[in-house]
Amino acid sequence: MVGASLAGLSAARSLRQQGFDGRLVVIGDEVHRPYDRPPLSKEFLAGTLGEAELALESDDEDLRAEWLLGSRAVGLDRTDRAVRLADGREVRADGVVIATGAAARSLPGSEGLAGVHTLRTLDDARALRDELARGGRLVVIGGGFIGAEVASTAYALGLDVTVVEVAPTPLAGPLGAAMGAIVSALHADHGVRLLCGVGVKGLSGETRVDAVLLEDGRTVPADIVVVGVGARPCVEWLEGSGVVLDNGVKCGADGRTSLAGVVAVGDCANWYDPRAGLHRRVEHWTGARERPANAVATLLAGGAVEPAVPRPPYFWSDQYGVKIQFAGHAAAADSVTIEAGAADTRDVLAVYRRAGDPVAVLGMNQPRPFMRWRKQLAAATS
Ligand SMILES: Cc1cc2nc3c(=O)[nH]c(=O)nc-3n(C[C@H](O)[C@H](O)[C@H](O)COP(=O)(O)OP(=O)(O)OC[C@H]3O[C@@H](n4cnc5c(N)ncnc54)[C@H](O)[C@@H]3O)c2cc1C
Repeated sequence: MVGASLAGLSAARSLRQQGFDGRLVVIGDEVHRPYDRPPLSKEFLAGTLGEAELALESDDEDLRAEWLLGSRAVGLDRTDRAVRLADGREVRADGVVIATGAAARSLPGSEGLAGVHTLRTLDDARALRDELARGGRLVVIGGGFIGAEVASTAYALGLDVTVVEVAPTPLAGPLGAAMGAIVSALHADHGVRLLCGVGVKGLSGETRVDAVLLEDGRTVPADIVVVGVGARPCVEWLEGSGVVLDNGVKCGADGRTSLAGVVAVGDCANWYDPRAGLHRRVEHWTGARERPANAVATLLAGGAVEPAVPRPPYFWSDQYGVKIQFAGHAAAADSVTIEAGAADTRDVLAVYRRAGDPVAVLGMNQPRPFMRWRKQLAAATS
């Protein structure tokens, strides 16, 4: 297992559940045992959830695994499936699960400037939480889900918050323009400034950031900056290994890669969706937890397993006290209608359709109807 987080742990659990009783080695470059990332931009950042509560393993769980933590994989040898580590060690395996996830993209030129943060790891979240506790003016670059959650948490902590988004509307990609506009109106509801349709030219400050410079010439003063401009798959270590890379690890619906005995799962996997006839790399918690079971079954059976039909991708986000849930693919829709609630009360249940058939569903504070639609969607598309 390379990658000791949600997808790697889920794969390790599935291996044991499916009867594998051989040697299991989990390699992770972070020093921490697997922890949950979603709270890092929510309760953990707000200070209402402690580090112990982030643990993904239960106290009595024993996977009988060897944990090589603080160990970065730097290569994979295709002939004997040996994973090379940065410290020179090698781990040979009969099967390899690639679960190296994704890393936050940074803003070129911002390296080494104090007060500038990205948010992907526990260490990132600790550093940002400490800074937010001091208060001041926060500028979030990027109005996607992580940027929006950080803005929401910082607003609740009493900071003065501005979000800068290059697109005309945040979240238009995942939710479509109309629903993206409704969800991102939450910022304005709470007095958080949202500057859309303008790019960031750079940051100013000698040793510590003091402002964000916009491409239209405006300057936004800042004490703290969070760069939330997406993530890139961590797959550099596989270059030259024979594993085909294309926006992550290119793999089948069952995680099978171009190398026998090697599967990919979680945020780093660009898997084939047989329903849509294309590859997708989905950075959502539920897929990273659920999909490894099928990949591991494939590995144990030497490839002779029917790939499970993937459920429509699902994610949630918590912003300004509103639970946002989404399942399916907005891009596939030719219409979207509000079926319950109303945009101005921010309690929308919206259904996306293509030629009259549901392809996605969005809920804002509509957990029960959302779950019903999610089930219906899974049944309709299976
Ligand atoms: C702040 C935040 C909030 C989120 N909130 C939500 C949410 O509300 N809802 C939702 O659906 N999803 C959310 N997500 C996404 C969700 O957490 C991810 O989809 C999930 O963590 C993916 O798990 P993974 O194991 O594939 O990858 P990761 O969690 O990225 O883990 C990969 C691990 O592999 C390690 N690694 C990388 N390269 C190497 C290497 N060469 N050698 C060894 N180890 C390596 C990494 O350091 C990391 O520990 C959030 C993510 C973040 C960061």
